Amino acid sequence: MIYQRHIPREELFAAQLELLIQNGRLATVSIHLVGVLATVALFWPFVEFTSILLWAAAFLILLLMRSLHMSNALVERRFNTKPRRVYRQLLVGAGLTGLVWSGVYIQATSMVPLSMQYTFLLLIVMITALSIGFSVVIREYFIVSVFTSLWPIAWWNTVHYWQQPYNLLIGLVLLGLCALLVFVCDRIYQSFRNMIALNWERETIAQELGDLTGSLRDRNRQLRDARRQLTDLANVDELTGLGNRRLVNNVLQEEINRARRSGSEMSVIMLDVDYFKYYNDTYGHPEGDKVLQKLADVMQRATTRAGEVVGRYGGEEFILVLPGASAESAQRTANRLRELVIEENMPHETSKVAKYVTVSQGVVTVIPDADLLPADIINRADKALYQAKDGGRNTITVA
Ligand code: GH3
Ligand code: MG
Ligand code: MG
Repeated sequence: MIYQRHIPREELFAAQLELLIQNGRLATVSIHLVGVLATVALFWPFVEFTSILLWAAAFLILLLMRSLHMSNALVERRFNTKPRRVYRQLLVGAGLTGLVWSGVYIQATSMVPLSMQYTFLLLIVMITALSIGFSVVIREYFIVSVFTSLWPIAWWNTVHYWQQPYNLLIGLVLLGLCALLVFVCDRIYQSFRNMIALNWERETIAQELGDLTGSLRDRNRQLRDARRQLTDLANVDELTGLGNRRLVNNVLQEEINRARRSGSEMSVIMLDVDYFKYYNDTYGHPEGDKVLQKLADVMQRATTRAGEVVGRYGGEEFILVLPGASAESAQRTANRLRELVIEENMPHETSKVAKYVTVSQGVVTVIPDADLLPADIINRADKALYQAKDGGRNTITVA
């Protein structure tokens, strides 16, 4: 993601146009409408009523057309698609409106008394100055207004200094006013542009921060998934799909804690295949693997209660964790396991206890105290298993 520090020129220009049109649409019509009404009120005793009405009507049509044009540009978002064209049309509109005012003033000088003329001039100055409020967004727009309305009047007064007593003074004052208005407009325009650019920058940063937060959240989720997968992998025995020694130790610790809190008992069975070395020697290692997988299935079938966990503790040694199981209950499970393994009837010619695969099991039952560790239980189960082996194999010993 590339952080765009500066607002692109076209985007800024389009934003300026939009703002000008939005504000200018109503303001243009209303300011000039007031001007037209005031003009009619001022001039009607001195000018023929029909011609003044005609002028007012024509001017109003021009204003309405401009307003319509702005509305259309806004609706069709032409300030985005054809900004240059909209810009030119806006300038032409502003120029025409300005020329109407200066034209009327110059015409009026020969028709109305001096006091009316000055009042009218004041009106034009006010209209022009007021329009700075919305037109400053695009500096040229305001400058065109000034140079078509006030500037010709200033020029005319200066040139015709001999016609009226104060013409020269008025002309010079107006020229100064033009310069002042343009200067003020420029100042406001600069700070306005900075404001837009700052806003834009803030919005961009906010948006980019939003994107960044989103992608960080995604990345976090991926990491969490990956970690979960890794944890699963680290806890699962590849060959049998059972939990491995690590998982067994964790489960044992959890169950010890739980049993300690509730003061209940728990049992563990350690299971080992009889004469498995011989099995491998006779049938080959891959066949031995299949036996281990089958045994894993059998053990899972034999442990259906909630919380019971089967794990592969070593090469061909398995652990069953039976939370809440009494010694009798654990022994029943061990017996069922023994029978299920026999039912599988996996041939084992070289076994010294049977013609099929058998297992020996050591069962241990505890009510955990504060010092009991998973390793303690495993040791006791291992000892019981050793006794089971000693006792002839295919047997179960309860510690
Ligand atoms: P016992 O009745 O005393 O248990 O005799 P045993 O031959 O089974 O002796 P022990 O338990 O010590 O033998 C472990 C054998 O298990 C040794 C090894 O060949 C085999 N073994 C361990 N892990 C695997 C394995 O992942 N796949 C296979 N196929 N064999 C394995
Ligand atoms: Mg063994
Ligand atoms: Mg063995």
